[in-house]
Amino acid sequence: MKSLKKIFFDGTFSTDKEDLLCYGYDASGIDVLPSAVVWPKSAADICKLMQFAYENDIKVIPRGAGTGLTGGSVPVKDSIVVSFEQMNKILDIDTGNLNVIVEPGVINGHLQRALEEEGFFYPPDPASLNTCTIGGNVAENAGGPRALKYGVTRDYVMQMEAVLPDGRLISTGVQTKKSVVGYDLTRLLVGSEGTLAVITKIRLKMLPLPENVITLLTAFDSLEQAGKAVSRIIAAGIIPRTMELMDRMTLIAVNKYKSVGFPEDIEAMLLIEVDGGSKAITVDADKIANICNGCQGRIKIAEDIASRELLWDARRAVSPALYKISPTKINEDVVVPVTRVSELLTGLRGLSVATGVPIACFGHAGDGNIHVNIMTDKNDKKKFDEAERLVRETFKLTLDLGGSISGEHGIGLTKSKYIDMELDCANLDIMRGIKKLFDTKNILNPGKIFPPKGTDIR
Ligand SMILES: Cc1cc2nc3c(=O)[nH]c(=O)nc-3n(C[C@H](O)[C@H](O)[C@H](O)COP(=O)(O)OP(=O)(O)OC[C@H]3O[C@@H](n4cnc5c(N)ncnc54)[C@H](O)[C@@H]3O)c2cc1C
Repeated sequence: MKSLKKIFFDGTFSTDKEDLLCYGYDASGIDVLPSAVVWPKSAADICKLMQFAYENDIKVIPRGAGTGLTGGSVPVKDSIVVSFEQMNKILDIDTGNLNVIVEPGVINGHLQRALEEEGFFYPPDPASLNTCTIGGNVAENAGGPRALKYGVTRDYVMQMEAVLPDGRLISTGVQTKKSVVGYDLTRLLVGSEGTLAVITKIRLKMLPLPENVITLLTAFDSLEQAGKAVSRIIAAGIIPRTMELMDRMTLIAVNKYKSVGFPEDIEAMLLIEVDGGSKAITVDADKIANICNGCQGRIKIAEDIASRELLWDARRAVSPALYKISPTKINEDVVVPVTRVSELLTGLRGLSVATGVPIACFGHAGDGNIHVNIMTDKNDKKKFDEAERLVRETFKLTLDLGGSISGEHGIGLTKSKYIDMELDCANLDIMRGIKKLFDTKNILNPGKIFPPKGTDIR
């Protein structure tokens, strides 16, 4: 590691324990100390780093803000963490072509605010937006509440610059609306969880800000009715920009954490937003209110921007709030076709009742993506084993409903042992082949996505 100092100097390299501690974990709760941390200032720095790592067989772990929930940026032993805090500039906002070029360390929320000042927005809005980076969003193909109407990160990445594990710099994609020239490497790198290349620059699409937004809060006495309301709204041809669900346990947790005053005698709440032209969204909001009434839902409309912001603050506090009510929570983010949300919610409730293990559900119900939080205690082996068994049951239920085991958090470390519940051998073989082609020496973020050899169930 000492010779790294020839490449990284003046505060862009550290092996100090207090620095290593800050870069040895993510929001999955797993931690492993790396051997060094570097803070490159340019793609050229990263090329030099990867050449050095390749020649010396050293493992490199790209890291955004460490808000990932599946251990994607958790280091392995004897590795170098590459952090993008010094590559955090918005390089160009091209209003004529509706796109923006950023470095990977730009915080999602900073980009949102910069674009809003110009009358534009970048739709992917993970609930962690005030902390997470665009590099991390691209590597995880992050979603967020607005994915229902606007899609996920993959739908917005036009071009990328990235460094391969052997130190070569590549550019992928185009700055035009269309192109069919060879395989689409941009889409391959999005969601690759830092295992194929280190992303150093990204061109993203942006959209003009909508004229107006209406926010509705709807309370339901049963999870099933809330799920039905979601699929009936979509079936009525309305695409709200968000339809966020919070179940009873979630509402109670948020109240304790933030004193929001959500009702606690209901089973579920939906936070629904429509955006667009004022006239059109008033019509949509009326239709949504009628559908929710038909499902025994009770509606309230946020009167102004301040009350809307309060609701979103509360929604974004769900994850930390749930950590406060249970020593350990296993956080899954399954997704099912929207017409099956009701079955997923009632199936999960059934699993919870049958086992006595509390399960809190919240998330992006409008696109079928539910965050399933299995509340447990990692210091109580019996309880923890039961919770782990429930993870497998949750995935089985999801797959039986035609869903997928991860909507937006990725596989990382925590879900690698379950990946073959969804992907067959042929798919996994092709994916392993792609990893090998990019990273012959397996030095870039090793041990992520794929289950350790010999542990595949099939
Ligand atoms: C409270 C909370 C709410 C959340 N809400 C959402 C949500 O609504 N939607 C959602 O999708 N996710 C959500 N997440 C998960 C998380 O915020 C996202 O996965 C986010 O994209 C991670 O970004 P990060 O900058 O923290 O990346 P990290 O966690 O640091 O890294 C994530 C992955 O990206 C890789 N990586 C990072 N930068 C690069 C780069 N430049 N080149 C190559 N690989 C790179 C890492 O190696 C790792 O595999 C939430 C997390 C929390 C804690």
